[in-house]
Amino acid sequence: MSDVTIIGGGIVGLCTALALQDDGLSVELVDRGLAAAGASYGNCGLLAVGEVVPISKPGVIPKIPKWLLDPQSPLFVRPKQMITQLPWLLRFLWSGRRNRVLEIAEAMAPLTRRAGDDYRALFAQAGISDNLVPAENIMAFNSKADYEADRFAWDLRRRHGFNHSFLTREELRSLEPALAGPVSCGVLLEGWLQFSDPGLVQQRLARFLVSRGGKLRRGSVQRIETAGNKAVAICLAGGARIPVRRLAICAGAWSGRLVSDLGIKVPIAALQGYHHHVPEPGVKLNRAVLYPNGGFVLTPMESGLRIGGTIEVAGHDPRPNFGRADIIARKAVDILPGLDITGGQQWMGPRPFMPDTLPVIDRAPNHGNVVLAFGHGQVGMTLSATTGKIVSDLVAGRPSGLDLSPYRSTRF
Ligand SMILES: Cc1cc2nc3c(=O)[nH]c(=O)nc-3n(C[C@H](O)[C@H](O)[C@H](O)COP(=O)(O)OP(=O)(O)OC[C@H]3O[C@@H](n4cnc5c(N)ncnc54)[C@H](O)[C@@H]3O)c2cc1C
Repeated sequence: MSDVTIIGGGIVGLCTALALQDDGLSVELVDRGLAAAGASYGNCGLLAVGEVVPISKPGVIPKIPKWLLDPQSPLFVRPKQMITQLPWLLRFLWSGRRNRVLEIAEAMAPLTRRAGDDYRALFAQAGISDNLVPAENIMAFNSKADYEADRFAWDLRRRHGFNHSFLTREELRSLEPALAGPVSCGVLLEGWLQFSDPGLVQQRLARFLVSRGGKLRRGSVQRIETAGNKAVAICLAGGARIPVRRLAICAGAWSGRLVSDLGIKVPIAALQGYHHHVPEPGVKLNRAVLYPNGGFVLTPMESGLRIGGTIEVAGHDPRPNFGRADIIARKAVDILPGLDITGGQQWMGPRPFMPDTLPVIDRAPNHGNVVLAFGHGQVGMTLSATTGKIVSDLVAGRPSGLDLSPYRSTRF
């Protein structure tokens, strides 16, 4: 039996397993083997260090009616989900009040601030340092008014030390000559970096884990078996029962059902995102470009150009609506006129989202040998190396140097 069994082989589970190995523990990682279905495979690959301001923030509520009625908007709720997801949506909007957003940013900043260093150390160990690309991201806007409309968020980021510099149309074009169309200005996001390709990073970290003696097991966990105040086994589809010594639950958007076996109720939603990935885009970008007017990000990756983003409230494991990916691909051509989107691969995957955008990183309240690490929302790729370190601190009983109370599972 391994020292720690980890459920979920996305970026959170992998980084957690690797950090536990650093402490000399043996690990077994269990995943359904559908890596491409997890958010970690298809995300936009940004190390978004300044993303400390949640999506639900002052000024968002007035935009909601327009978004709900417009299937092309960056946030769309499938009509049937309007009722089932209403309690979650109300909590999400309630978290967007000014004072709560200030607290959320305060809780997010200590995590994102160390994200780059934690990844640099991990990637150096794994021999994949070049998988973190040093080109800083830019955000492009149709007008200066669009940039200024988010003044609250810019000021809040700056207050936490995440700075940006404004770019005129000419400065933007000199950094990214291919950007044209309606884009008229932008900002350089200082310290925001990108991964060379999230799916390949995942594969390479899994290989590193195995090279250090870690075990990968393919299986779908149906149930966690407990005895008293301990988890004692996980039961897989097909009937296998695996005894566990310690358990880490890192199952992304699917974690809610698993933790209910431990009597834990967490309001976690699966906010679907899409990508359209073009192997031969016909245009060159030097860095990732965020385009809030269109609700998507353009990221040049090892395997081509990724157009990714949009948020769809569609429930757990919905059938993909690739019309959403078509929309962002068409909008991308507007700002990158030379872009060839033919032959693109389309993907849908769920952001594991808590109403307040903060992750759960915690010990299970009533089961001393279980740790929880999920709910990283739109910044899970950014936060995973740091999350892994914190989980290893929790398992070792070491102080992490951070106040972990904002990430408790019982905060709702
Ligand atoms: C379109 C899009 C763009 C994004 N862009 C960025 C970005 O630029 N930067 C950033 O920081 N973040 C980004 N994110 C968010 C980020 O991708 C996620 O927060 C992160 O990948 C979550 O990682 P995870 O390991 O928790 O979950 P996942 O990657 O979803 O992994 C969960 C794993 O658990 C497994 N699993 C679940 N249930 C079971 C079970 N019962 N038994 C066995 N295995 C199970 C699944 O198979 C899966 O492999 C984006 C997300 C999306 C959708």
